[in-house]
Amino acid sequence: MKHDTIAAIATPPGQAGIGIVRLSGPEAQAIASRLFRPASPHYPPFPTHHLILGQIISPDNGQVVDEVLLSVMHSPHSYTREDVVEINCHSGYAVLQHILHLALQQGARPAEPGEFTLRAFLSGRLDLTQAEAVLEIIEARSSAGLKVAASHLAGGLGQKVTGLREALLDLLAQIEADLDFGEELPDMQYAELTPVLQALHTQISDLGQSYVQGRLLREGLQVVLAGRPNVGKSSLLNQLLQTDRALVTEIPGTTRDIIAENLVIQGLPVCLLDTAGLREAHNKVEALGIERTRQQLSQADLALYLIDASQPWEVEDAEQLAALAEQPALLVLNKIDLPPKITESSVPDTWLHSVVKVSARTGEGIPALKGAIFQAATGNAIPPTNQVVTQARHKQHLDRCRECLGQALELIKDGQPPELLALELQTAVQELGAILGLEIGEDVLDRIFSRFCLGK
Ligand code: GDP
Repeated sequence: MKHDTIAAIATPPGQAGIGIVRLSGPEAQAIASRLFRPASPHYPPFPTHHLILGQIISPDNGQVVDEVLLSVMHSPHSYTREDVVEINCHSGYAVLQHILHLALQQGARPAEPGEFTLRAFLSGRLDLTQAEAVLEIIEARSSAGLKVAASHLAGGLGQKVTGLREALLDLLAQIEADLDFGEELPDMQYAELTPVLQALHTQISDLGQSYVQGRLLREGLQVVLAGRPNVGKSSLLNQLLQTDRALVTEIPGTTRDIIAENLVIQGLPVCLLDTAGLREAHNKVEALGIERTRQQLSQADLALYLIDASQPWEVEDAEQLAALAEQPALLVLNKIDLPPKITESSVPDTWLHSVVKVSARTGEGIPALKGAIFQAATGNAIPPTNQVVTQARHKQHLDRCRECLGQALELIKDGQPPELLALELQTAVQELGAILGLEIGEDVLDRIFSRFCLGK
C-alpha cells in the first residue's frame, strides 16, 4: 500500500454552491495547514470531525483564493483510515483547480480514479463488496437500486457471503482433520456431509440467480416498443412518460430514429425505446430504421408489441409475433377507446397470458401495463436486499463456487477419495473469498477501481 498523500476534486465539474477538494494521507494535515488561514487563531492543530472556517491563501503571494470550511478527519476515523482533509470551497472551475493545484504544489499527488475507496478497501475499512457498493450508490438510477446498493455498502452482501464461506470452511476443516488425523479419529461418514453441502449449494445457486434481478436494478430494464406504423407507439411512450418528448403524428413511418427515455416503474429503472414502425420499407431511410428496430428488439430485456385493436389483424402482425415468440414480450392492444376489431378472443393462444389492453389516448390500462412490465421483468419478486447480487463479477464467482459444490456432491455420491473433495471445497472457498476481495490480484483491483470517478 502506498503511503503518499493524494488529492482530487471530489465534486462534479460546474458552477454550484459548494465544491470539495479532498486530501488523504500522512501529509494531508500539514499540506492543509500551509494553505489555510483559520478565521479564529486557535488552529492548527486541527480537531477531528469539526468544520473550521477560514481562507485558502496562495503561499507564493499571500493572495486569498476563497473562503472555505475545512473538515479534518484524523486517522483511523476516516473514509480511508488515513488522515483526511476536505476543503469545502465554492464550486467553479477556476477556484477548484486553483486549490487542487496548491495542494499538489505542497506535495500531494493527483489521485487516480477510485483511489480513496481503494485505500478504504486496502486498509480493511471496507470489504470489496462494500467498495463496489460505493460506485453502485453513485450510479443508482432508482429507489430500489439505491436500496440494494445501500444494503451492500452497509455490509449486507459481505456478511451473507462471509457466512457461506465460513460454513464451507467448517466442512473443509472436518475433511482435512480426517485426512490428517483419520487414524486417531472415529471413522468419518462422508455421506453425512451431503445435506449441509446440498443446502449450501442451493443458497449459493439462489444468490447467483438473483443477478437476473440485480442487474436490472443496477442497469435498468431495456424495453423496446415495436409494432406497425400508426398503431400508437409514440403516443404510448408519451403516456408512459407523461410528457410530449416523442414525435406524434398521423403520417405513418415518421419515427425513423430510435427515441430512448428513462422512467422508473415500481422502483425499477426502465429505459424505453420507441422504434421505427415495422412494415415493408418504402425507402432506404425507413429500411435502415426498421433494421435498427430489429437489432434493438433482439437485445431487449422486454419487447412491447403494439397492435391497433380498432383495426383488423394484419399478416405482418402474425409474422412479428412469431418472431418474438422466443423472447420476453407483451402484446399490447392499443386504442381500446375505439370500437374494437381485435379482442382477446382473436389473440393467438400462446399470447393470451401476455396481453394488456390500453388506450394511449385516454390512459386507460396504463397502470396495468406498468404492472405487467414489472412482473415480466422481475417475476414480481425482488429478493431481500442482502440477497441480490448486482455485479457480473460476483455472479461469476458464485457460479464457479456452485459448480465446485456440485462436483463435491458427485464425488461423495460416487465414493471418491476425500482428497478430491477437499480440493473442490478449497476452490469453492477461494471463489467466495474473491467476492470479498480476499487474496485478489492487483490487476483485478485495478479493473474494479478504474471504473470509479476521480475524488471517490
Ligand atoms: P406510431 O406510428 O405507432 O408511433 O403511432 P402514433 O403514436 O404516432 O399514433 C398514430 C395515430 O394514432 C395518432 O393520430 C394518435 O393520436 C392515434 N392514437 C394513438 N393511440 C391512440 C389511442 O389509444 N386511441 C386513439 N383513439 N387514437 C390513438
